[in-house]
Amino acid sequence: MCAAESGPAAPMRRIAMLGGTFDPVHHGHLRSAVELCEMLSLDQVHMIPSQLPPHREAPGVAATDRLAMLAAGIDDTPGLRADDRELHRSGPSYSVDTLASLREEFGERTRLVMALGVDAFLKLAEWHEPERLFELSHLVVIARPGHAALPGDALKALIKGREVESSESLFATPAGRLLHLRLPSSMDISATELRRRLQAGLSVRYLLPSAVETYIQSSGLYR
Ligand code: ATP
Repeated sequence: MCAAESGPAAPMRRIAMLGGTFDPVHHGHLRSAVELCEMLSLDQVHMIPSQLPPHREAPGVAATDRLAMLAAGIDDTPGLRADDRELHRSGPSYSVDTLASLREEFGERTRLVMALGVDAFLKLAEWHEPERLFELSHLVVIARPGHAALPGDALKALIKGREVESSESLFATPAGRLLHLRLPSSMDISATELRRRLQAGLSVRYLLPSAVETYIQSSGLYR
């Protein structure tokens, strides 16, 4: 848990989901999750690999391997959790279903956040039941180097009236608002570039945790 306060006077529980392909997980994901946890005083960040991402090509690496790499990367990091709930569902891994399951687990009053990088946010209007995402959770958009936040018309309509400027305003309600965050250690690392480097036999040292690199080498992934 990253929240400074605890005990009976503590504010409402705050849980975030950071979904993704994690193909493979890297320090851009992990450092963002840690800083998100601290900046928003969250109780926990659930990092949730998708079984079958609906909006992109199926990953070449099995969900079980992507989950194992995520768990190895997180290790014992306080506040972060490798959550396997999407691996137990068949069909496309829609975020609304994942949020509904988190909402059911944590209750109506918990402050639930779906965190995502700005690249993912720009495609939000094409997601499954985008309006319902806001019924279930808040959205926190993380700035990413090289990706400008320039929403198209459909996205502008979707987020109209939802944007807030502070975490206090965000957490005034359990769901429905949107906050843009610039985290202190913004990192220009992508899984696409890591896969390219691994295929080319180039070094990925310091771009991802050494435990993840060891898993990749010993399982012969991304060759
Ligand atoms: P790919 O290059 O294969 O698209 P990726 O590096 O973007 O992969 P994903 O698993 O698709 O990784 O990302 C999961 C979530 O993490 C997305 O919301 C994405 O925007 C965000 N994210 C990925 N990399 C970073 C980063 N370096 N900084 C901040 N957020 C990131």
